[in-house]
Order: sequence, then structure tokens, then C-alpha cells
Amino acid sequence: MSSAAALCATDRARLLDRLERESFDCVVIGGGISGAGVARAASQRGWRVALLEAHDFSSGTSSRSSKLIHGGLRYLAMGDVALVRKTALERKQIFRMAPHLCERRWMIVPARSYAALLAIRAGVVAYEKLGAVEGADLHRNWSAEDLAREEPAIDTRRYKHACVYREYLTDDSQLVIANLRSAAALGAAVLNHAPVEAILRDGSTASGVEATCALSGRRVRVRARCVINATGPWVEAVRRLEDPGAPPLLHLSKGVHVVVSAERLPVREMVICNTRDRRSIFVIRRGDVVYLGTTDTTYAPGPNPWPEIEREDVEYLLEPAARTFRSQALRPEDVIAAWAGLRPLIAEPGKAPAEISRRDEVLVGPAGVVTMAGGKLTGYRPMAVETVRRAAEVCGLRLAPDPEEDPPLPGGDFDGDLAALEAKLVRETHLSERCVARLARLHGTDTREIARLGSEPLVSGAPLLASEVEWAVRVEGAATLEDLLYRRLRSVWTVPETRATATEPASVRMAKLLGWSEERRREEVQRVSARLASELAFLAG
Ligand code: FAD
Repeated sequence: MSSAAALCATDRARLLDRLERESFDCVVIGGGISGAGVARAASQRGWRVALLEAHDFSSGTSSRSSKLIHGGLRYLAMGDVALVRKTALERKQIFRMAPHLCERRWMIVPARSYAALLAIRAGVVAYEKLGAVEGADLHRNWSAEDLAREEPAIDTRRYKHACVYREYLTDDSQLVIANLRSAAALGAAVLNHAPVEAILRDGSTASGVEATCALSGRRVRVRARCVINATGPWVEAVRRLEDPGAPPLLHLSKGVHVVVSAERLPVREMVICNTRDRRSIFVIRRGDVVYLGTTDTTYAPGPNPWPEIEREDVEYLLEPAARTFRSQALRPEDVIAAWAGLRPLIAEPGKAPAEISRRDEVLVGPAGVVTMAGGKLTGYRPMAVETVRRAAEVCGLRLAPDPEEDPPLPGGDFDGDLAALEAKLVRETHLSERCVARLARLHGTDTREIARLGSEPLVSGAPLLASEVEWAVRVEGAATLEDLLYRRLRSVWTVPETRATATEPASVRMAKLLGWSEERRREEVQRVSARLASELAFLAG
């Protein structure tokens, strides 16, 4: 396991020593997809990189998205052709680098009339041209009979047609962690639970950052030629560390998703539904659950770092299901899990959140801090390369040439045929098909390494392995129970039967690996229980 042990939570003291001792070419603030992408791109181009994340890797927006690697068909209607082209083309690249994290699925757009179908089809054709979609991946038109056979949950009394096109489903947290592991394997020093509190200066120029390890209280000064602010919804707060008078930049938009059991809403693929206010939401099957999202409403930051999930958000998301599917109307009480995220949109005064472009921007502050703002999960690679080039200009640093082809991410070194990989893994590991299907989607070929650590279940009857805890701690940097359950196992959202039962056994295993006292272990359990309860607090309203 040592070669893969890139983000090790048992090695934090040594990493803190290294951060203090070495001098880096760049220090990246923020461990979401933007920071992870930059850390990898800079490491690939020969830079010595440090990355500091205030909480956990991907704990911000990058674990709370709709989890689509997509160009965004609806942004075409907004006229954002350049953005759609960039992100639609990225689908192929991410699939090539991490086929396990880029699942090819049909996106179904139901239509009530033939005229409506033709209008949808025209948009899809343009979208496919921009994304260079070919062959078997091109869209299809489905009749009511096709719908009844392929997606019987859709109410064909109402919808007689559908246009279906290819989109890709990912696991946003794992995509971040795979990029960070790749950066660390190239030499980057990557630490979570280390908020940056100050920008160091040499004269008037930024020369590093000061951060505190939130788990040990130790303060570190990290010296670097260049400072990159990749803090998503918090870029303004970090910009103010550099320049207290920095003008406002962002319009934050709240996006909620809710999860129901697939027995309650037996959707097979991914479906677009229309809300009463003429927006689109996604209904996405993942394993034994289906999630619906998202809302898109202006958010004014309050005392909590994350917005609350209100009953009206939930009702808004459930309402279209009654008009689209045959199943009985969904009620808030059917929701078994939920999450809320914040879109860091670049403000366009006078526009509602749904009308604002998802474009990205790279800005340079008065002390030379390079800030990346806006953007999409899907566009993280080009955004990272643009940021690194800009940083090289600002700080006078040389860049090694771009790699000819971006190499696979950890776990992505196979030919893209996940079904064949799964069959092989079932034979080799003797794990159940259900267990392998889940692991292979998250870890690709690394499933072998996890199986080598053991095949004992974490919770009896559930497809979670005890060895996943060790993998998460030693290889993926999970340092708290929430890191593990929310952003490594992803069990709270995708294996809801284990929401209550996995917490205790997982905490016992983590305590052993990380040397926690019994008091610390109980605190960790309490913290997770409080988050689980807060996400379903709307049920009491
Ligand atoms: P974040 O992921 O928020 O990362 C910023 C990080 O900075 C955080 O982890 C935070 O803890 C850290 N940080 C903050 N302050 C400090 C500090 N002082 N020191 C150290 N660290 C700090 N895009 C898609 O392509 N497909 C989708 O399906 C999709 N769906 C979405 C659905 C919703 C509801 C939302 C909100 C967004 C969606 N997006 C989607 C957009 C995408 O999720 C975001 O663009 C992307 O995740 C932003 O990543 P980021 O790294 O910039 O920000």
C-alpha cells in the first residue's frame, strides 16, 4: 500500500514539518476540485507544490454537486457556447483518465408532443456537435413504447416521446481525492484540516501563507514563490486577507439535493423534469437510491458555513416528480438524505442565479495572489492549466512543457470497460457483486488494493468493507469520522441503510488507526450524528 499512500492521515506531524521546512514554488489554498486540479497541473509541470485545505478535501462545493460531468445543455439556451464547448469536450478527457469516475448514462428528456421533441432535439444536436459526440453515443428519440420498456417509471399517459442523450455521472469527492493523490505522488505536500489565516509578504509581494492545523493546534508558515486562492465560495474572504478593500466578486447560490429510495421512485437512468417555475431539475439513479436536484436561489451568508435545507426546498424538488412519474406523489417524509451546496458564481448584477453564467475567471490581486473564481466541476482541468500559466507569468516561474496526454488518475488505469473490470475483480477477490460494483465505481483498479487489506464487512449485510476505513485513513487522508462517512465511503448518501449502523463500527476502526481516546471517539460520533440530524431537520418543520 505504501506506493499509493499519498494522503496519509497518520503522518500529519511529518507533513507539517515538511511544510515548514521546505520552500515551495506555489502554495494552493483550498482542497476542492479547483485546488486539486491546480496542485496536479502545477506538479506535472515541475513545480514544488503545497496545498492546504481548511476542513476536509472536497468538503466544500466539490462534494455537494449534482455529480455530472457535463457541458450543461441548458447553458446553450443561455448563449454560453464557449463554456459548453469547453466542458462538453472535457467529458471525453475525464472518461479517458478515470473511466470509473465517469459513468456513461442516458439523460432522458421527456416531451409531451412531437413539436416539443423536435425543439429539444435541436438543442441536443448542437450540444453533441460542440462535444464532438460520435457513434453509439449519439442521441436517440424514444417513443412511448420505448419509454415504457426502458424507463417505465415515466408516465407515458403524459409523455409520449423523449430525447435521450449521453451524459456522464461521477463521484465528485473521489474525483477531487484522485487528483490530490496524483499531485502528492508527484511530490506535492497536501494537508487537510489546516485553514490558512494570513498571507505572508516579502515587501509588498505575497511570499507564502500562515495556517493552523485544526487537529493539533500547531501553526505553520509555508513559504512559496506564488500563492493561489482556490477557495470556491470563500474566495472573497481569502482575497480580503491579501487586500481588505477587495471589491465583492461573487453571487452565492444555494443548491439543494434530496435522496429517496429507488423502491419509492424506481427510476433507472437520469431524467430531466420541469419545475413549476420552468427550471429543469435532474432525477438521478445511483445504486439503490435516486436523488433529485437542484434548487438555485440566492444565498446571503449567515453564521453557518452551509445553508440550511428548508422544507420548501424539499417540496420544490419533489413536486415535479408527481407530474413526470407514475409513482405516488413523493412527500418530504420519503426523503432519506439531503445535501446543500453553494455555487460560487461570478456576480452579474440584476440577474437571478439561474441566469448567471457558470464561466470561470482568473484574477491577480495587489500582492500577486492568483485567485480562481467561478467555473464547473467538469471544467477543472482547463481552468487549472490557465491558472498555473497565469501564476507562472505573475511570479516569473518557469513551467515544464505540458504532458502530451494527461495520464490516468489513480484507479483509472484500465481500458474503460468497467463491467469487464468488475467481473475480473469478483473472480480475483471473491467479494460479492454488489460490493465490487460499489467499490469499482469509487476506486477503479484500486479495488484490488482495498480487497487485499481484508474482506470483512464493516456492517453485516451491507456492501461496506472494514478495509475501506484503513484505505481512507492511510491513502485518502480521512482524519475525522465525517471525512470518512461523507467523503470517502459516501455511505450516508448512497447506502442509506447504513446511515445509523456504520457510525459506531467505523469510529472504532478509525480510533485504532489514529490513536483516538474514547472521549475523542465519542465526540466524532456526536459530530456526525449532529450533521445527519441537521440535514433532515426540515422534517420537523
Ligand atoms: P469548493 O469545492 O467549495 O472548494 C473550496 C475549498 O476551499 C473548500 O474545501 C474550503 O473548505 C476551502 N477553504 C476555504 N477557505 C479556506 C482557507 N482559508 N484555507 C484553506 N482552505 C480554505 N459542476 C459540474 O460540473 N457538474 C455538476 O453536476 C454540478 N452540480 C452542481 C450542483 C450544485 C448544487 C452546486 C452548488 C454546484 C454544482 N457544480 C457542478 C459546480 C461545481 O460543484 C463547483 O464549480 C466546484 O465544485 C467548485 O469547486 P471549488 O474547488 O472551486 O470550490
